[in-house]
Amino acid sequence: MRSTSDEKGLKKIYEGKAKILYSIPGDDERIIAYFKDDATAYNGKKKGTILRKGEYNNSISSSIFTLLKEKGIESHFIEKLSGKEMLVYRLKMLPVELVVRNVAAGSLAKKMDVEEGIKLLSPVVEIYFKSDELGDPMINETYIGAFDLGNPADVEKAKQIALKVNDVLKDFFDGNGLILVDYKLEFGLLKGDVVLADEITPDTMRLWDKVTLEKVDKDRFRRDLGGVEEAYKRVYDITSKIKQ
Ligand code: ADP
Ligand code: UDP
Repeated sequence: MRSTSDEKGLKKIYEGKAKILYSIPGDDERIIAYFKDDATAYNGKKKGTILRKGEYNNSISSSIFTLLKEKGIESHFIEKLSGKEMLVYRLKMLPVELVVRNVAAGSLAKKMDVEEGIKLLSPVVEIYFKSDELGDPMINETYIGAFDLGNPADVEKAKQIALKVNDVLKDFFDGNGLILVDYKLEFGLLKGDVVLADEITPDTMRLWDKVTLEKVDKDRFRRDLGGVEEAYKRVYDITSKIKQ
């Protein structure tokens, strides 16, 4: 499907599973991220579309990055340009994904053979190497230097930021009837500083209703639970209250 950025003749620099990145003529510092309705799971093996996901995720991410900035946490976010488009700083991305967990679910519940829903005594932070071919293997801090994946100090900084994000978002969602179970973050370098990048949405977070424990995130798509669009809309409605 053609996006508004396509129509403006902007150059596509990358198309991923959830977003398209466009360069802006004469601007080396900023790019446009276009949020697609496409949904994938299990490393791209399950494919589908979620009605209005592009609009919901663009808005949810814009609101969350705005909230985090208010709390002193910097990101690539500059402004929301349209329904599905966000203006961001073009970053040199760290080749890792950080997952922070407050409650056991998904791969952690399987790995530790515990029931989904067990509250962790303290947050767990995991590092994954971003590689579609390898299926994003889990690594640890010592891999960064050993395999020349970047500056180990940058990954350490990312870890500290990821935990600060946890304090802010756990509180925010708790105040809005949801449990922040876990989430994935990506980071990049902006003039040498480590900042948050990519997106923070129901595609990348697990959120459960505090009372019913109903899932309000992409697990509804992954596990064919129905009510997928409604779940994204609920998070959209909650985050829309954040002033941009
Ligand atoms: P995937 O690549 O996993 O399919 P997406 O469709 O979300 O995921 O693609 C977005 C891509 O853009 C990701 O590779 C992500 O690391 C990268 N990215 C996110 N924010 C920025 C940024 N500010 N500058 C450069 N690249 C970014
Ligand atoms: N996650 C993500 N992208 C990935 C892998 C995980 O956004 O490539 C998010 C996922 O939505 C969840 C958290 O990270 O909120 C932890 O995911 P988990 O390791 O449990 O993976 P899963 O079992 O969902 O594949």
